Amino acid sequence: MPIVKDLTAYKNVWVFAEQRQGKIMPVAIELLGEGRKLADEIGTELCAIVLGNKVEDLTKELVAYGADKVYAADHELLEKFTTDAYTKVISDAIGEIKPEIILMGATHIGRDLAPRVAARVDTGLTADCTILEIDAEDKKILQTRPAFGGNVMATIVCPDHRPQMSTVRPGVMDKAQRDDARTGEIIKLDVKLEKKDVRTEVLEIVKTVGELVSLTDANVIVSGGRGLGKAEGFDLIKQLADKLGGVVGSSRACVDAGWIDHSHQVGQTGTTVKPNLYIACGISGAIQHLAGMQESDIIVAINKNANAPIFDVADYGIAGDLYDVVPMLIDALDNVDNIVEALKQTAATAE
Ligand SMILES: Cc1cc2nc3c(=O)[nH]c(=O)nc-3n(C[C@H](O)[C@H](O)[C@H](O)COP(=O)(O)OP(=O)(O)OC[C@H]3O[C@@H](n4cnc5c(N)ncnc54)[C@H](O)[C@@H]3O)c2cc1C
Repeated sequence: MPIVKDLTAYKNVWVFAEQRQGKIMPVAIELLGEGRKLADEIGTELCAIVLGNKVEDLTKELVAYGADKVYAADHELLEKFTTDAYTKVISDAIGEIKPEIILMGATHIGRDLAPRVAARVDTGLTADCTILEIDAEDKKILQTRPAFGGNVMATIVCPDHRPQMSTVRPGVMDKAQRDDARTGEIIKLDVKLEKKDVRTEVLEIVKTVGELVSLTDANVIVSGGRGLGKAEGFDLIKQLADKLGGVVGSSRACVDAGWIDHSHQVGQTGTTVKPNLYIACGISGAIQHLAGMQESDIIVAINKNANAPIFDVADYGIAGDLYDVVPMLIDALDNVDNIVEALKQTAATAE
């Protein structure tokens, strides 16, 4: 028989306020925005929990972003994220204070931490949610997430265990508005942590500089999608982009596959663009991609599947294999250069 907890003992919505090097991560502010809506619907308080070394300034910021209460865990051993230390402190706090819902960002840290905490406190966790709602009847949280590569939206409920835990995809929820006039209660957690509790030692944190891609300023964007089939496909996309003086864009599928950096991603969780010319190569035209580019002046789609939804928004469509079509386009553009050059020369000699 599974042990059913006394659910009524669990109260309030908690947001895990992930911080790195003393800066609150944007996803935590998105979660405070979403958490506020959920807390208001249930009629409970919105709380943030922040862990680190000297986090006092952050607690004020979290109140400004909407937290009614902030639980602060300050300890030398929490300076850098480690699964052991963070799991222990958060699990201890859950055991003691008993939150009803906990939201964490689906960042690398959140994805590492949430399952550990959920297992430790023996509750349910839904990963990478994109929609959170409260069931009007029983006030439980309905956690919706894309499954099977985004082909199915699954709504998941955690009926008998508490807290109800979700990690939430960054960039999906609206950020909370900052209001420095807000007041809230800061509660210092009594951190019980010793060196032996932490089995990992962080030697160094290396920050890699992301590529600077100015998608928003570009007049021409040539984007590649999963239809490229491999990372090297972007070499071809780059050739066409260079020919047109444009920049390389991408669908999320290629970013997820590790073929290209996120800074190239166009769409709902990437950059929203409005160039004069957008060429989509091997992109199906999922709603989340269209959300980021359908305002472009002229859209050209190249896709093997003549029924792909990208053709619904395209001004010009070419149904064909991009590995045939794109080289032809590049050749044609070379010819245009030649033609323009030839015309210029003819004009010059005629003068
Ligand atoms: C909350 C949320 C946020 C999201 N945010 C974004 C976002 O910001 N941006 C984004 O892009 N997606 C986003 N997505 C993902 C989105 O739903 C799609 O999964 C993604 O856009 C699909 O990428 P794709 O078109 O490259 O791949 P697919 O949908 O797999 O399409 C590949 C296409 O290539 C064609 N093709 C295959 N081979 C060839 C070839 N040789 N020549 C020509 N065509 C070929 C196929 O016919 C197909 O149409 C998000 C999803 C969710 C749930």
